[in-house]
Amino acid sequence: MNRDIYDLLGLLAAVCFVLALKGLSSPKSARRGNLIGAVGATLATVIVFFYANDGRALNHLPIILAAITFGLLVGTIAARRVQMTQMPQLVALFNGVGGGAAALVAIVEYLKLGDKATTAEVIATIFTVIVGCVSFSGSVVTFLKLQELMTTRPVVFPFGRAVIALTLAGVLISGGFVVANGGSTPLLINALLSLLFGILFVLPVGGADVPIVISLLNAFTGLTVAASGYVLQTTLLIVAGTLVGASGTILTRLMAKAMGRSLFGTLFGAFTAKAQSANDSGESRPVKSGSADDVAILLNYAQRVAIVPGFGLAVAQAQHTVRELADLLTAKGIDVAYGIHPVAGRMPGHMNVLLAEANVPYEQLVEMDEINPTFPQTDVVLIVGANDVVNPAAKTSPGSPIYGMPILDVGLAANVIFLKRSMRPGFAGIENELLYDTKTTLLFGDAKESLTKVVSALKGL
Ligand code: NDP
Repeated sequence: MNRDIYDLLGLLAAVCFVLALKGLSSPKSARRGNLIGAVGATLATVIVFFYANDGRALNHLPIILAAITFGLLVGTIAARRVQMTQMPQLVALFNGVGGGAAALVAIVEYLKLGDKATTAEVIATIFTVIVGCVSFSGSVVTFLKLQELMTTRPVVFPFGRAVIALTLAGVLISGGFVVANGGSTPLLINALLSLLFGILFVLPVGGADVPIVISLLNAFTGLTVAASGYVLQTTLLIVAGTLVGASGTILTRLMAKAMGRSLFGTLFGAFTAKAQSANDSGESRPVKSGSADDVAILLNYAQRVAIVPGFGLAVAQAQHTVRELADLLTAKGIDVAYGIHPVAGRMPGHMNVLLAEANVPYEQLVEMDEINPTFPQTDVVLIVGANDVVNPAAKTSPGSPIYGMPILDVGLAANVIFLKRSMRPGFAGIENELLYDTKTTLLFGDAKESLTKVVSALKGL
C-alpha cells in the first residue's frame, strides 16, 4: 500500500472517531456511535499491516500476531464475562493498560533512537512516560477501589501533601535530567517515580469521587497516545489521542461540575477534611423497617411517587420489575417519575442505560436539578438500591468525603422508602442519616425480590 492510500484510509478512520463521539453524545445514537468507533479502530489497526514503511511494519510479524491474539483473547473473555456492574473497573483497567503501553512504546523508541533523538522527541518521550505511567498505576488503584479490593474511603497519611509534592518534584527533575543529559537509567528512575506518583495521587480520592478520577486518567491516556504519535510520527495516533484527551477533559469538567467539586478539591480535599460524617460511629441505632405489604399500601394511597434508582438496582438487575411497578402505579392514576442523579451507579449514564433496557420512556427520567424542586409535593420516594446520591451528609457534614456533592433532596418528600439488603453504607463508605429518619421505612432484601413482592401486594389491593 502506498503512502497516499495509507493516509486516506487513516483520514477515514479519524472521521469514524469523530462520528463515534458525535453518536455517543445521545443515548439514542450511542450504539451506532460505538460501532462506528469500532470500525475506525479496526481500520486503523489493519492498515498498518499493509503499509510497508521501509518494511518496518512487517518486521517481527509472528510476535505482533501472537500479541494481538493474546490481547484479543484476554479482551474478549474479560468483556464477555464482566457483569454490567463491573464495567467501570474494566474500563479503568483497559484505560490504564493503554497508558502503560504508550509509555513502554515511548521507552523502546527512545532506546532505539539513542543519541539520534532530537530534543523535541526526547521531550515527547518524557511526557509520554510520565503521563502514561501515572495513568497506569493510578488506574490500577481506581480498579482496586471500584472492585472493593481496598478501602473506598480516602487514604490519607502523615505529611501526605508534602510526600506527593516531593514525588512530583522528583518526577520533574528526573525528566528534566533526561532531556538535558539523556541516559536510560535516569529514564527508568523517571518511570518508577511516575508510577509512584500515580498511586499517591489516587489514594486520597474518596470513593464517591472515583468517577471523576477515572475520567481524568482517561484524558491523560489520550494525551499520552497523542505524544507517542509524535514520537512514532503517526498522524492517526495524534488525532485519536487528542480526541480522547479533549473529550476526557470535557467529561472530567462536566462530572466535577455535576458533583459540585473543584478538581483540586477532588484530588487533594481529603488532606484538609478533618471531621468524619457526624454519625459515623458504628453504633447501632433503631430504624423503622416494614414489609412489602406496608410499602404497597403507602404507594397505593400516594398521588405522586418518585423512584430513585442507584447501584443496587444494577446489582439486583431489577430494572424490569421496577418498570412493572411504575406501570402498575400509573394505571392506578398515580403520577410516577424517576429521579436520575448524574453519578448514580458506577458509570456515567448507568441508570439511563439500565432503564432504557427495560424500555422505560425517556420522558419519565427526570434529571436531578429538575426533580429536586418537586420533592416537597411528592408523597412517596422509593429508593431502589441508592445511597450516596441521597445522603444528606453531602450538605450537612463538612468533613464528609461527599461534602459539596449535589444530592437528590428526597428528605423533602412526605415518605421515604429504602430498598436495600442491610445497613451497609454506599460506595463512599459513610453512614446515611436518612435511614434513621422517622419518615423513612426500610424494606430489607434484594431489590428485585422486594419489588416483586410489592408488585404482587399492590395487585391485591
Ligand atoms: P451506592 O453505592 O451509594 O449505594 C448502593 C446501595 O445499593 C447500597 O446501599 C447497597 O446496600 C444497595 N444494594 C446493593 N446491592 C443491592 C441489591 N441486590 N438489592 C438491594 N440493594 C442493594 O450507590 P449510588 O448509586 O447511590 O451512588 C453511586 C456511588 O458510586 C457514588 O458514591 C458515586 O460517586 C460512585 N461512583 C459512581 C460512578 C459513576 O460514574 N456513576 C463511578 C464510580 C463510583 P446493601 O449492601 O445494604 O444492599
